[in-house]
Amino acid sequence: MSGMEVVERARTILGSAHVLVDPADTAPFLADWRGRYRGAALAVLRPADAAQVAAIVRLCGETGTPLVPQGGNTGVVGGAIPDNTGRSLVLCLSRLNRIRGVDPIGDSLTVEAGCTLAAVQAAAEEAGRLFPMSLGSEGSCQIGGTIATNAGGTAVLRYGPMRDLVLGLEVVLPDGTLWNGLRALRKDNTGYALKHLFIGAEGTLGIVTAATLKLFPRPQSVATGFIALPSLESALQVFARLRGTLGDRVTTAEVLSEPQLAAVLAHVPGTVRPLTTIMPWYLLVEITDPLSGLELVERLEELLATGLEDGCIADAAVARSHAQAEAMWKLRHSVSEANRKSGIVIGHDTAVPVARIPDFVTRATAAIAAVRPDARVVAVGHIGDGNIHLVAILPESLRASAEPLDRIAHAISAAVHREAIELGGTISAEHGIGQSMRDALAAFKGPAEMALMQGIKRLFDPQGLMNPGKVVAADPRRGVRQ
Ligand code: FAD
Repeated sequence: MSGMEVVERARTILGSAHVLVDPADTAPFLADWRGRYRGAALAVLRPADAAQVAAIVRLCGETGTPLVPQGGNTGVVGGAIPDNTGRSLVLCLSRLNRIRGVDPIGDSLTVEAGCTLAAVQAAAEEAGRLFPMSLGSEGSCQIGGTIATNAGGTAVLRYGPMRDLVLGLEVVLPDGTLWNGLRALRKDNTGYALKHLFIGAEGTLGIVTAATLKLFPRPQSVATGFIALPSLESALQVFARLRGTLGDRVTTAEVLSEPQLAAVLAHVPGTVRPLTTIMPWYLLVEITDPLSGLELVERLEELLATGLEDGCIADAAVARSHAQAEAMWKLRHSVSEANRKSGIVIGHDTAVPVARIPDFVTRATAAIAAVRPDARVVAVGHIGDGNIHLVAILPESLRASAEPLDRIAHAISAAVHREAIELGGTISAEHGIGQSMRDALAAFKGPAEMALMQGIKRLFDPQGLMNPGKVVAADPRRGVRQ
C-alpha cells in the first residue's frame, strides 16, 4: 500500500482534521526543541482516545508502516523524532488528556497519557494530594512521555523515578490489542511485572494510553536552603548529615558548580545570587513534611550552623518566605536556558555511586579538557541520586570549523562515559537512550544484555514498527517473525 493510501486510511479512522500533512503543520513535530534532530513523516496523527490509537497501530501492522509516538517533545535524546525516510507516522498523544479518576482512599489517580505533568500535579492538588514528580519541562512534557522515558527530576531522592510512581498502565500493544493493566494495587505478585517493561521502553514496545499513579500527602512544613561549599566532598558530607538527621524529609539535594551558577546569572534575567560568598559548589536543599508546625526552617538552620562552625560549609541561606524559596529554585530551573545561551552544549546524564561523585567529576572534567581544551565545563545534578549532568560548552565559532561538530561531541561524550563506567556508573540515569545514545548503549550493556533486550523487542514487536531505530538497533533480518 502506498504512503498516500496509508494516510487516507488514517483519515477514515481519525477524521481529516486530525491527520496533519501540511509541512507548516507537521514541522513542530519533526524536530526536537534543541533543533538537534530532524526527521520526516507521512503524516502526524492526533488520535482522541485509546480505541483510535489501537486502530492506528493495527493500520501500521497491516501496512508495515513505522510508528513514532510523541508526547510533549521535550526529550533530550531524539526519541520522539522519526528518521528522515519519510515512511513513518508520528503519533501525537496530546488529545488523550482526560483525568479519568481520583481515589483519595487508595491514594491513586488515573490519567490519560497526553495529560501534561503540570495538569497531573494540579489534579492531585485539587484532590488535596501530591503527585511528586517535578521537572523543568513539567508544563509541556506528558505523563506518557515521562513513563516512556522513566523520567527522574528533582524529587527522586524521596519519591523515586517514574518507575516507582506507576501502579498500573493501559497500553496498545504492537498488534493493536488494548492491554488494560490499570490495576491500582500496591501489591500484585502474579508473575512477570509487565508494566515495568513499558516504563523506560521509549515507545519501542507499545503505546502507553493511560496510567494509574501513586499520590502522596501534601507537604505542610517546608524549608528551602542554598549552601556554598568548598568542595564536592563537603557537599556529600552535608547531604549525609541532613539525611542522617532528617531522613526522608530531605526531598531535594541539587548541586551546582560555580561556573554553572555564573552562567545562569549571566544569561537568565531575574536571577540573583542568594549568597555573596563565591565558592566552587552550591547545594540547593528542600526539606518537607506532611505535618504542619514542625519548624523545619529552624531545624535546617541549626544543622547548617554546625557545618559553618566546623568549616564544612562556607555560607548558607535559608528561605524565610515563599518568594525567597522560589528565587532559589529559579536558579536550578534556569540551567538549560542558561547553557543553551552560553554556547554549543554537549550534555551528559551519567550517574555513579553517590560516594564516587567527586572522583567522577574530577576525572571526567580532565577527560573533557584532554579532548577539547577550549571546552568550559559546568555541572548540575541530583547529588543524592549520584546523577551529575556534566556539560561541556564549546565556543559558537566551532560551528564554522572544518571539523564536524558531531565528531567532537562524540569524542567528548565517549570520554565522559568511560569515566562513569570505570567508576561503576551508567551512561543514562534519567533521559533514556533514544537515538543519540543507542550506539553507546550497546557498548555499555555488553552482548548478553543486548541479546535479551533484542529478544524482548522481537517478542513484542516482531515487525519492528514501534519507534524503530530507538533504544535497540533495528535488525531487518530478524525484524519479521519467521
Ligand atoms: P517526548 O519527548 O515526546 O518523548 C520521549 C520518548 O517517549 C520518545 O521515545 C517517545 O517516542 C516516547 N513516548 C512519548 N509518549 C509516549 C507514549 N504515550 N507511549 C509510548 N511512548 C511514548 N528529564 C528528566 O528525567 N529529569 C529532569 O530533571 C528533566 N528536566 C528537563 C528540563 C527541561 C527544561 C527539558 C526541556 C527537559 C527535561 N527533561 C528531564 C527531559 C524530558 O522532559 C523528559 O525526558 C520527559 O519525560 C519527556 O516527556 P515528553 O512527553 O516530552 O516525551
